[in-house]
Amino acid sequence: NKIEDDYVMGGALGKGKFGSVFLCRSKVTGVEFACKTLPKGEETVHKEVEIMQHLSGHPGVVTLHSVYEDAESFHLVMELCSGGRLIDEMTKEGRYSEHKSANIFKDLMLVIQYCHDMGVVHRDIKPENILLTASGKIKLADFGLAMRIANGEVARRGQTQYDELDSEGKPLAFAARGFLLETSNMEVPSPNHWATPKGQSLSGLAGSPAYVAPEVLTGDYGQKADIWSAGVLLHALLVGVLPFQGDSLDALFEAIKSMQLDFHSEKWQSVSKLARDLLERILTRDVAARITAEEVLSHPWMMFYTERTL
Ligand code: ADP
Ligand code: MG
Ligand code: MG
Repeated sequence: NKIEDDYVMGGALGKGKFGSVFLCRSKVTGVEFACKTLPKGEETVHKEVEIMQHLSGHPGVVTLHSVYEDAESFHLVMELCSGGRLIDEMTKEGRYSEHKSANIFKDLMLVIQYCHDMGVVHRDIKPENILLTASGKIKLADFGLAMRIANGEVARRGQTQYDELDSEGKPLAFAARGFLLETSNMEVPSPNHWATPKGQSLSGLAGSPAYVAPEVLTGDYGQKADIWSAGVLLHALLVGVLPFQGDSLDALFEAIKSMQLDFHSEKWQSVSKLARDLLERILTRDVAARITAEEVLSHPWMMFYTERTL
């Protein structure tokens, strides 16, 4: 069957690096889905499909419903997340309360822990890839960069099987660093973008690079790279700005590799010591010392600020 035989295609839900995501509705059941269409010649689609199937056992992972192939494209029919992207909610909301941050972060950590237990590193944790259901529950999406790395193993620089190409198909300058930075997929920040401090322009630098763990820039990395990225997100939730910024990619990477967070600054005054303690344990450049998803989940901040279910 062709996808048009089984689904009525609707409007665009989002645009990605290689393809687009559309609303679609099953002709048989009338149920709505999201369809990610990826042009052929994109070898990573097989990996993306395989990993989504491998991770289908968790409510926090976007479910892959079916896959179609035609002459030009692959079509991934996925569960529809009608609540949109976390990034858009963050833009509206500004800073989140600790209670709300902790509840979101707990759900994110549960799904990251599941991925890691299943031997998968997501490698692209950021609020553009965290979607929301109609009832506001988070779903981790976009396994286009995910890799199977068993717990404790590492990916080496340049070992990735992905070709790191820019939008015109040329290799990226930092390809040798072994991490695909979605430069052509970056949301261009609006003048009052939530992550951009007043008077400072990120000149198109948003999205992935700000979330990259320092070890990804310099050498071997594994599961803990996702924890770092989640920590960057937690910082943004709690204080409304990204922790590491720069007006060039090099300046941003330099900040990621060496800038110390200033917890004495005014924006931190209203945030609990427990939250700061957790963030310090996550945004630790020493990978061995950085805490795991499991340890994040049992940190006192989590215990104190998340809803108790008895
Ligand atoms: P890319 O790998 O190109 O970044 P994504 O899988 O992240 O592609 O999808 C791009 C965008 O499409 C997302 O940021 C989101 O806005 C939208 N989208 C993706 N999957 C879904 C879904 N299951 N439900 C609703 N919207 C989605
Ligand atoms: Mg994406
Ligand atoms: Mg992707």
